[in-house]
Amino acid sequence: MALTLRHMVNPKTVTQQYPEEQTELSPRWRGTHRMEVHADGRPKCVACGLCPTVCPANCIRLVGGEDDQGNRYPIVYEIDEFRCIFCGMCQEVCPVEAIHVGRDFENAEYTRDRFVYDLDRLMQQDHPTALLWDPSDPASE
Ligand code: SF4
Ligand code: SF4
Repeated sequence: MALTLRHMVNPKTVTQQYPEEQTELSPRWRGTHRMEVHADGRPKCVACGLCPTVCPANCIRLVGGEDDQGNRYPIVYEIDEFRCIFCGMCQEVCPVEAIHVGRDFENAEYTRDRFVYDLDRLMQQDHPTALLWDPSDPASE
């Protein structure tokens, strides 16, 4: 009763009018992936194979290729966002900082196959990327 009375005289709004009102996500929020691109539109991925190897959910599919100059690139690069556990390890291991988990969660779909993001879709994502955990600054201060 005391708690109820306290809220009656000092009401605090707890309802958030989503999506009109949105809370800013933590810089370390790990959500939908995005693939960084070069200025000429090519993906930054060099198909090294590290991220599919380290992924604990086994949800990255990579088929690598090589161009005439011997540069490796992804022919197929897909991430199943439905199986992903958003651990961020793909971002941590990428030697060229190509793949990132991002500060985004609005990725609802009507069918499961829509959760498999191909390379084009990953490159089109434009939300901010997640900040990696820094052991020298564990609380991000
Ligand atoms: S965030 Fe983790 S689970 Fe998701 S694709 Fe990357 S390594 Fe795999
Ligand atoms: S770790 Fe980076 S460069 Fe290597 S396959 Fe994954 S996205 Fe491509």
